[in-house]
Amino acid sequence: MANKITARSVDYSQWYIDIVLNAKLADYSPVKGCMVIRPRGYAIWERLRDELDRRFKATGHQNCYFPMLIPESFLKKEAEHVEGFSPELAVVTHAGGEKLDEPLVLRPTSETIIWNAYKGWIQSWRDLPLLYNQWANVIRWEKRTRLFLRTTEFLWQEGHTAHETKAEAVKETELMLEVYRRFAEEVLCLPVIAGKKSDAEKFAGAVDTYSIEAMMQDKKALQAGTSHFLGQNFAKAFDVQFQNREGSLDYVWATSWGVSTRLIGAVIMTHSDDKGLVVPPMLAQDELVVIPIFKTENKDEVLAYAKRVADALKADGRRVAFDDDDSTSPGWKFAEWEMRGVPLRIEAGPKDAASGNVVMVRRDSGEKLVVKAEDVPAKAAELLAAIQTNLLERARAFRDANTKPVADMAEILAFFGKEKKAKAAAADGESHEGTAEATGGFAEGLWCGGRDCEAKLKADLKVTIRNLPFDRQADCEGSCCLCGAPSKHRAIFARSY
Ligand SMILES: [Zn+2]
Repeated sequence: MANKITARSVDYSQWYIDIVLNAKLADYSPVKGCMVIRPRGYAIWERLRDELDRRFKATGHQNCYFPMLIPESFLKKEAEHVEGFSPELAVVTHAGGEKLDEPLVLRPTSETIIWNAYKGWIQSWRDLPLLYNQWANVIRWEKRTRLFLRTTEFLWQEGHTAHETKAEAVKETELMLEVYRRFAEEVLCLPVIAGKKSDAEKFAGAVDTYSIEAMMQDKKALQAGTSHFLGQNFAKAFDVQFQNREGSLDYVWATSWGVSTRLIGAVIMTHSDDKGLVVPPMLAQDELVVIPIFKTENKDEVLAYAKRVADALKADGRRVAFDDDDSTSPGWKFAEWEMRGVPLRIEAGPKDAASGNVVMVRRDSGEKLVVKAEDVPAKAAELLAAIQTNLLERARAFRDANTKPVADMAEILAFFGKEKKAKAAAADGESHEGTAEATGGFAEGLWCGGRDCEAKLKADLKVTIRNLPFDRQADCEGSCCLCGAPSKHRAIFARSY
């Protein structure tokens, strides 16, 4: 219920956990860092997954599935890849009561096992491109975890494509980032900044990583999706050559791209409030809840009236919950369904039944409307679309209000302030670091491209370059806001999840 949720202004991090637990989206597991996804959370994942899957197929991709056990030697074939992932690997050394000849890694990502298979599938340019995706779980042994946002095991999709030319692979990398950008805005109502990662922040084994970055309500950034141009790195590591159109042998060009259950965390953090969960209508398990308000003497009449309203909505294709539980009060139900994040509530009492009206209440704004019963399906369609639009625009306005240009280190220090000391680990074992920051947001400034000033910023303020926005690189002449050297790029600087 609503009163179990800590206010954002008191403890943002605890507010988030309270919503996840009280809205019954997920729960802790006996293994630290793992997560149980409960039906209400999984319903959001299913809607998100199905819509994204539809968009992958519309852009020519097919699904497949690779094993989760990968020979340890595979990971070692690409030098940067193994260096990046080694600290996070979980390794199986025993199975069937015996020590294994070669340890098996639980996949942290699948480039290696997939490129090992591609070696057998690609001989000629006629075999290309391969545009494959898999929906799977992965394991990364994280030290600090938080439900949905960073868990040891998570669900995701990983696309792995193979191409004849560099230009084609770069185009694919850009295309998939654009698929993610549109999906984030149109479905998740997350306004995102699309751009290129700095070399220090790119995927281990990639030539270039592109990302979409969103701002949460505590003004921290969350990387919501990545698309990697892998060059010929994995083709060389696994010796995947093909006969090109000129008849000579060449290494295959590659991309990979992924989003995960972390997106659910991003949606919760972006839209929810102190009453509980707020989700975009397109992702909501139930779009509406109909709540009949009755006493014993008018119960049958009110229930029948409310049922007709709910049935008309269902006939119109809406996902509708009907709460006729007579063991709880209307006020309790209103708070409960607000906490669960149902986008629209419909109240129908004896007076409404007599006048032929209902009351419709928007979860995003709290606005109440009196609507004629026969107009409810049309009004519901209109309001759900309005909520979807409003959530995106509200989040965009918040982000824009908290994005500032910075010219030098003095302005960066003033903007971000000092990082708060990490609090002692809470009883739930989760990280509560650097929460409830009053300062910060997205700082936009010129950057020289050097690793040293970027590393110093991270060490001193825990601020990183989120990405170099594609649409803001036209005029980058000036001096680096970190070190004063001649600048090459425009960057977004922020603290992040
Ligand atoms: Zn610099």
